[in-house]
Amino acid sequence: MLKLFNTLTHRQEEFSPQENNLVKMYSCGPTVYDFAHIGNFRYFLFIDVFSRYLKYKGYKLLNVMNITDIDDKTIKRSNERGIALNEHTKEFTAKFLEDLDLLGAEHPSKIVAATDHINEMIDLIKALDKNGLTYINEGSVYYRISAFNDYGKLSGAKISGNISGKRVNVDEYDKEDARDFVLWKAAKEGEPFWDTAYGAGRPGWHIECSAMAMKYLGESFDIHCGGVDLVFPHHENELAQSEGATGKQFVKYWIHCEHLMIDGQKMSKRENRFFTLRDLTKQGFSPLAIRYSLVSVPYRKQLNFTLDGLRGDETRVKKLQDFRRRLYKSKCESGSSAQISYSIKKAKEAFEEAMDDDLNTSSALAAVSILESEINKAISSESLLEDDKKAALDFFGKVDLVLGIFGEYKEEILDTEIQNLIEERLIARKNKNFARSDEIRKYLAEQGIILQDTKDGTDWRRA
Ligand code: AMP
Ligand code: ZN
Repeated sequence: MLKLFNTLTHRQEEFSPQENNLVKMYSCGPTVYDFAHIGNFRYFLFIDVFSRYLKYKGYKLLNVMNITDIDDKTIKRSNERGIALNEHTKEFTAKFLEDLDLLGAEHPSKIVAATDHINEMIDLIKALDKNGLTYINEGSVYYRISAFNDYGKLSGAKISGNISGKRVNVDEYDKEDARDFVLWKAAKEGEPFWDTAYGAGRPGWHIECSAMAMKYLGESFDIHCGGVDLVFPHHENELAQSEGATGKQFVKYWIHCEHLMIDGQKMSKRENRFFTLRDLTKQGFSPLAIRYSLVSVPYRKQLNFTLDGLRGDETRVKKLQDFRRRLYKSKCESGSSAQISYSIKKAKEAFEEAMDDDLNTSSALAAVSILESEINKAISSESLLEDDKKAALDFFGKVDLVLGIFGEYKEEILDTEIQNLIEERLIARKNKNFARSDEIRKYLAEQGIILQDTKDGTDWRRA
């Protein structure tokens, strides 16, 4: 039984979805003002592993993620570049999806942009209006938090008498300072706006997620995820907007991922303390090792990022790949050994127990390592039998469906194939078809084959 730590109840709870087998989940997505950093990707890979494990457990998953394509930061950046907001945000949405692909993350079932849902946001503000939870000041609409009794139930933020009624209309503000927040901002010079029943303006950040989550998942759904920095004010305000409008419980399980840190501090763009995926791949690190680093620590623990740690993970994923190749290629006699098949069964149990325990990926990886070393020994002593080989491959394949740490399986290129390509390259060069000859050199380099041109022809070796 899967157990998850619920921020709302402050404890681990057994997970069961509202509708038998279907899990409805909303994850706050990226603000597409710039490249996401690997702190953001720690969170997005957590969503990936969490989603994959739900599917591994046999659930059907409807996972909606938003793209925040309008807020203070996206407007500021597009203005600095002198281009339209949607041109700027389209570009960074595409980069975000590219990075997700490089990191081997599956896309959520639905990815939805805030600016495509202005009508839904206005309808939600109207519902809040009807329930006496809003007021207008200087053309902007605010949420009156003192009128919502449950305000603070997610984060513990307190409304103190002298603070309530103070208004904040920027998207990000100080923690623990519960204030009436803006739902609809009156149009300002230099900012995009929409003409609506509340006048010309644009949405506040929090209303975006409530409107989109409820549109696609209903008024009440199973799981809402975000990084821990979103508990307050973003998620507290989402809860207040949604429950304030419907009177129903918005979300059953609120799940929050801890931060990726550098030198003991949160990785953050604002503080100029971050690495993007591109920064690291340019230094020669593989996306697979970056993925391994980010998923190997359980999501509720802070993870301190270091380049040394990443180097270690580079070695680790290489070892995992070598191990898988060795296992694939091992020649085994038919049959099965009681000891190895028992170890495989135990490894599977340990893996599932760890993942059921609030997605404890580090214990899950320990189960992988233990079996890996036992199988390695069996291969070395030529005692691995065919049925056990198949069962082990099946187990590691299942692990990979969840964690995605083995990477794509590439058969090693054969000597004859290399020879044929070298001959084709020589002919291409003779014919001055340098595009083709470069392509062949590049392809061989990707397979780890290094070419050396000599006066007698071309020598090659494996890297
Ligand atoms: P943003 O693009 O700023 O809206 O952030 C996207 C997601 O990344 C949010 O859920 C944040 O909570 C999360 N996030 C931001 N910084 C970090 C970090 N250093 N470690 C983990 N998650 C983060
Ligand atoms: Zn959100």
